[in-house]
Amino acid sequence: MDTGIGMKSAKSLILLLLASLMLWAFSTSAMAGAPQDARQATDSEAENSLLFLQSLDQKVADISWRLAASSADICPDKYGALGINLHDAAQYIPRIRPAAIAAFGFGDGFPAVLSIAAGSPAQLAGVEIGDRITAIDGIALTPHTVRANARAYYDIVEALMSRLEALPAGTAIQLDLLRGEESLSLTLSAHSLCQVRVEVVPGGKINADSGERIVQVHGKLAVWVRSDDELALVIAHEMAHIFRGHHGRLKQERIGTGLFSGFGKNGRKLRDIERESDRYGIFIAARAGYDYRVAGALWRRLSKASGLSGIWATSHPNARNRGRHADAVVKEVEALHNAGLALNP
Ligand SMILES: [Zn+2]
Repeated sequence: MDTGIGMKSAKSLILLLLASLMLWAFSTSAMAGAPQDARQATDSEAENSLLFLQSLDQKVADISWRLAASSADICPDKYGALGINLHDAAQYIPRIRPAAIAAFGFGDGFPAVLSIAAGSPAQLAGVEIGDRITAIDGIALTPHTVRANARAYYDIVEALMSRLEALPAGTAIQLDLLRGEESLSLTLSAHSLCQVRVEVVPGGKINADSGERIVQVHGKLAVWVRSDDELALVIAHEMAHIFRGHHGRLKQERIGTGLFSGFGKNGRKLRDIERESDRYGIFIAARAGYDYRVAGALWRRLSKASGLSGIWATSHPNARNRGRHADAVVKEVEALHNAGLALNP
């Protein structure tokens, strides 16, 4: 997997723009043979695509919570997590925005709940997908109007997510919500969890990457995997980059992850980091109760499918080595498991 070092918000925005265009292009081309009422059909196609992406968000949220919750003793930074991801009408490009508003019902200027992790404080308190947040701890959010033709921007959601992610563990927080027409107020108690935000970006690559605190899973990868166990292993690999402080380490040693960074000494360091993440990732997935034994086959298939050949192969362990390494780690974890020992990487 890539170890992309990038500011999440800007990147996510670009990906959302691209993905929105992609969705639009897809739905438009799908309608090419049906001229009558094409506009209406195209909108509902876009709505369905958006709802499908949301279902991927939900799946990734559930898996990520489970992974992060069972690795509390091996991650360096914890925070008070609520288990919700948000989204907002403003982050969708104008062409797709009406479909997003129709699909998600957030046309009144408040961000809405995109996903709720199973077992999280948000779920326990009764928050539901689609709830719009109108106030935090009694302080009202200002509803914003998004002009129909305003270009997509992610700032509103980013600011709100950062605010919710700055809570210390154990803090009680009150959320005022709108559920359809109904107003309600719920109190959530933030749960101590490894500091990492995992999100789905509607990218068209079979890939995932991570920044200093954010893991991004491309929608196409989430569809490509054959099971939740495989998806968990991929997310766990990216989490391992964060838990092991790889991004800081690369920055400190001034190692880039660009096109020509994979050669020589730098390439060796990048490969070492990937191996370490593969190893930690298998431990993290195993601790959360996922079937980590599929790791070898997964990494062999993924190395081929994600097109990490040619120049990229210089910084990433090749498919055969990666698969063999994963097989060895799986054996190691199995031995610990069978001996009833703690799964410490
Ligand atoms: Zn990686």
